[in-house]
Amino acid sequence: MAWFRNHYECDECGAKWTDEWSCMCDDDCRQCGARHMSPYDSDDLTLVIKERGSEFIVLRSPETAEHLPDYDEVATFPSREEASAYVVEAAYLAAEDRA
Ligand SMILES: [Zn+2]
Repeated sequence: MAWFRNHYECDECGAKWTDEWSCMCDDDCRQCGARHMSPYDSDDLTLVIKERGSEFIVLRSPETAEHLPDYDEVATFPSREEASAYVVEAAYLAAEDRA
């Protein structure tokens, strides 16, 4: 598992909403209650970058995350560019693992 921000649009009433969860799971419409809407898009928030003072910290949601992202600090960089490069590399390696 990991951490995702899912984007939904209701087939019944057209309402849009987002929710964060540990999977790309279905959700019920907040407006009309229509059941089992699948996300039309998802942001992978498994790895995120947080600024703290002059440092950029990479946080990772572990495989065990379920109801909260439960972020661990995995690396610290002096610049956002380096932190972003690390995230891209880590996401690439994770995708390779799944392939
Ligand atoms: Zn609806």
